[in-house]
Amino acid sequence: RSKTNGRGSYEIFTTALSDFIKESVKLEERLKKAVEKHEFFMHYQPIYDLQKKEIIGLEALMRWNYKGVTYFPDTFLSVMEETKMIAEASSNLFISVFHFIKKLNEALGRELFVSINISPVQFSVAPFQESLIHALEASTLRAQLVCLEVTESLFLENIEEVSQKLAALKTYGFCIALDDFGSGYSSLQYLKVLPLNKLKLDRIFVQDLPDSQSDIAITQSVLALGKNFNVNVIVEGVETEEQCKFLEQIGCRYIQGYLISKPMPEENVLEFLREKEH
Ligand code: C2E
Ligand code: MG
Ligand code: MG
Ligand code: MG
Repeated sequence: RSKTNGRGSYEIFTTALSDFIKESVKLEERLKKAVEKHEFFMHYQPIYDLQKKEIIGLEALMRWNYKGVTYFPDTFLSVMEETKMIAEASSNLFISVFHFIKKLNEALGRELFVSINISPVQFSVAPFQESLIHALEASTLRAQLVCLEVTESLFLENIEEVSQKLAALKTYGFCIALDDFGSGYSSLQYLKVLPLNKLKLDRIFVQDLPDSQSDIAITQSVLALGKNFNVNVIVEGVETEEQCKFLEQIGCRYIQGYLISKPMPEENVLEFLREKEH
């Protein structure tokens, strides 16, 4: 193709590239405003205990409301991480998340935990720990009910530093989870270095259960790893009854995924939980 109309495709390419650059600059500008205008909010997805047969926690997942349309992290998260805007957007939500869980638990009469995703860049933006602890104290929620989910793929260089900061937060009472376990390339090293309470097995290993022999082997091995390291394993992305039954058979206790529920707006959570309990 490039031989027959090489010059043509070069022009198309540069136009496309400059459009792309213009669009990303626009997006970045718009996201800056979105942070100032507090256009971010959370959806909540249940985490289920197969032994107790009840929902034990909720993962908070960030959404962007732009002109009445809800946007998902795949449209804004990478730009916000690169520019470190995620730190402010996320910190701005801590108080309302903790307050929501506090009120929810009071209404339910039992204690669910909440999981919050923390991008590695957030650890290097100064008021992170302070705003986390400040929000916690303002809400009077117990630190033990807050789980910080970190991903393994990004903080390669400063693992020591991140690990020390996580250790301090763990001492304070927060739970620490390693998210998307198995999808990066240094998982076992993180398991060794980070002060973890939980592992979340990435959903790429669940999609083809129970047919894929290699996914069966991986899932079983990670469950065993969790036992040996004394960390809870939450299996992500469980979508079907068949996957759930199989996971239960091989000794999995905690699951999350569309089978239990898709992430939902705050207003729907209490009703959803009450319906599940009856
Ligand atoms: P994650 O932390 O691994 O969250 C799980 C993602 O998988 C969510 O996508 C969720 O909606 C989706 N999911 C859950 N169950 C299923 C299922 O059964 N099937 C399928 N196909 N997908 C399922 P979402 O909400 O689009 O978030 C994507 C990622 O963005 C998150 O992955 C997390 O890494 C990041 N993220 C979300 N909220 C925040 C935040 O507040 N701060 C930071 N730093 N990152 C966030
Ligand atoms: Mg997560
Ligand atoms: Mg995950
Ligand atoms: Mg993720």
